[in-house]
Amino acid sequence: MTDQHPVERLRGLASLVGNTPLLAIEFDFRGTRRVLHAKAEYLNLSGSIKDRMAMHILRKAYAAGALQPGALIVEATSGNTGISFASIGRALGHPVTIFMPAWMSTERINLLRSLGAGVVLVSREEGGFLGSIARAESLAQATPGAFLPRQFSNRDNCDAHYEATGPELLGQLSAEGLTPAAFVAGVGTGGTIMGTGRFLREQVPGVRVHPVEPSNSPTMSTGHKVGHHRIQGISDEFIPPIIEFDQLDAILAVDDGDAILMAQKLAASLGVGVGISSGANFLAALQAQEALGGSAVVVTVFADDNKKYLSTDLLREEPVRAGFLSPDVELRALRALRRVCQTCRYPDPAPAPWQSAGSR
Ligand code: PMP
Repeated sequence: MTDQHPVERLRGLASLVGNTPLLAIEFDFRGTRRVLHAKAEYLNLSGSIKDRMAMHILRKAYAAGALQPGALIVEATSGNTGISFASIGRALGHPVTIFMPAWMSTERINLLRSLGAGVVLVSREEGGFLGSIARAESLAQATPGAFLPRQFSNRDNCDAHYEATGPELLGQLSAEGLTPAAFVAGVGTGGTIMGTGRFLREQVPGVRVHPVEPSNSPTMSTGHKVGHHRIQGISDEFIPPIIEFDQLDAILAVDDGDAILMAQKLAASLGVGVGISSGANFLAALQAQEALGGSAVVVTVFADDNKKYLSTDLLREEPVRAGFLSPDVELRALRALRRVCQTCRYPDPAPAPWQSAGSR
């Protein structure tokens, strides 16, 4: 590793995050030919949509002087966020410690370790997700200079999607002569739905913006944690503070078994090996399209790929239950729409104070 300043290193990574292709997925559903669109977020540097947020938060933190070279980065996460902060944080030369609930997939834990992060697993008895947040806060307080991204309450999380995910997908659709009627996304921190949603609402009058949750554990509709679900990455144990329901349309709910079946189908029929939340997002997008009419342009994200779930129910036989939508989806074809947005690659971080205009 060279002795480049972390801000220089951030710049070097910029083209590995965001500017993802938009997939147009053609399928038959109950006798009609349909198309749904999804951003291929699994193509980001560390394999998930969370790279966008991690990159943006670190860039802003350096610009604000809240993060110094070599400082500890500490975060609580159900997985992908940790993998993003580990990957980008280590690339910038930071030590990284991640607190996470003990029941996340072994692939996630091992990936974090392989990326050089310290991993602390927090059991249900020790407080699970909320316990992880509390422990991350105390470690940050006890460590001088430590940086805590606080993804659940940090507005820069939403801004990453406002500044890039939204403009990218609108640019890609416009290049095809299409205008989105709805955007749907499963809510983990809510960064994706709030940031992309805000941008689309500003640009496309009347666009619907639907958050998605598991019907087996409807935290957003009930206001608290109920039941269990298998859609890792969404619906943790509380409503994230960055969610503003008055900026969102109706919550859509997807059964975790249906999401698993859909993700399996996307992999086996189209070669798009995605994670369980992508299956949920596809089915929620289908629900939105059902409400708006079969030709409505509905967009979502495929947040990560299936490699982190190889030891989970995603690779087991899943029973079909009454009311599932996935059995009626016959996937036909896949087309990747070009990365058309020239301006929405992550902008350069603010110039560091020691840089003269000529050296930039
Ligand atoms: N799907 C997966 C697999 C995720 O890891 C996450 C992030 N936790 C999400 C969806 C939800 O994204 P967001 O945090 O932006 O709501």
